[in-house]
Amino acid sequence: MLDIKLTRTTAPKAKPEDETKLGFGKKFTDHMFVMDYTEGKGWHDPRIVPYGPFALDPACVVFHYAQEIFEGMKAYRTADDTIQLFRPECNAQRMQDSADRLCIPKIPVEDYIQAVKALVDVERDWVPHTDGASLYIRPFVFATDVGLGVHASKEYIFCIICSPSGAYYAEGINPVRIYVEDEYIRAAPGLTGFTKCGGNYAASIKAGELAEEQGYAQVLWLDGVEKKYVEEVGSMNIMFKIDGKIYTAATVGTVLPGVTRRSCIELLRDWGYEVVEGKIAIADIMKAAREGKLEEVFGTGTAAVVSPVKELVWKGEHAYIGDGKIGPVTQKLYDTMTGMQWGRLPDTKGWIVP
Ligand code: PMP
Repeated sequence: MLDIKLTRTTAPKAKPEDETKLGFGKKFTDHMFVMDYTEGKGWHDPRIVPYGPFALDPACVVFHYAQEIFEGMKAYRTADDTIQLFRPECNAQRMQDSADRLCIPKIPVEDYIQAVKALVDVERDWVPHTDGASLYIRPFVFATDVGLGVHASKEYIFCIICSPSGAYYAEGINPVRIYVEDEYIRAAPGLTGFTKCGGNYAASIKAGELAEEQGYAQVLWLDGVEKKYVEEVGSMNIMFKIDGKIYTAATVGTVLPGVTRRSCIELLRDWGYEVVEGKIAIADIMKAAREGKLEEVFGTGTAAVVSPVKELVWKGEHAYIGDGKIGPVTQKLYDTMTGMQWGRLPDTKGWIVP
């Protein structure tokens, strides 16, 4: 159990007036959670303090060698004003896996969850009331050792900030166009693809910008060795319904094991669908599309929950999915996941933590 000290702000900010205009990750709440790590002492001084900047030495390891990891999760307000989290232990565990790969000291799962709950409790009035809007929670750890030698830091800061965020799709879920990236790669075996480290995202920005310039919402990454097999999208895992079966990349080191992905797979199997986790060639997906067998494509992730895809483009060939309409499995997953998260449906899976 952490002994969390609370220092309340003396200058609370005005809450957003129009929750339909929140956007994503632009406004931050009044407080943040901070805990320090020092070699020999371990994690210490857990505290909730007024939100504000850090004073850091310019030679900190994080600025030069990107020794940093993060997580992304949400707090949801239900109709009866309960504030709830969705499978926070999965994010806590994934942060441990990221920490291990980046040589960052782990935060015990129970301490991570306690810290998130304590901060959300202090910030409960910031959890939006509008359907589909939520309090986005961003835990992160960064290396603060001073020195330019490439080494694992001996000091770190664990911080959690919160941002009231709007519904991803203000007018209900909206099918997106995806660019299949055939030049740049995101991950390769032995690298850090399975972690949420900042470096993965820095390296992905260029391809994302090029895709956006051409009118595509995000890129679909192929495997980093042969550029033959589909892996995941910029900030989502991706699933394909072909001839009645659901296919998605296995999370074997190069793909981020999404909490939404895992939850959707469990639901799909409960509903009797066969879900194949493995190597899926992009050529086979395009072929299925030509044969009229590519029934649905959707991304899964905390931000959008379930995001229908209406078009893929790979090396100039376009695959159009479901006449641009939202498929029934995509819709059912979206309704079930968001129903549980916002408390409209009973939590039949034990995923909700008040
Ligand atoms: N892949 C990547 C690269 C991501 O950044 C995310 C968002 N965390 C996901 C997949 C989806 O993961 P989750 O369902 O846990 O949000």
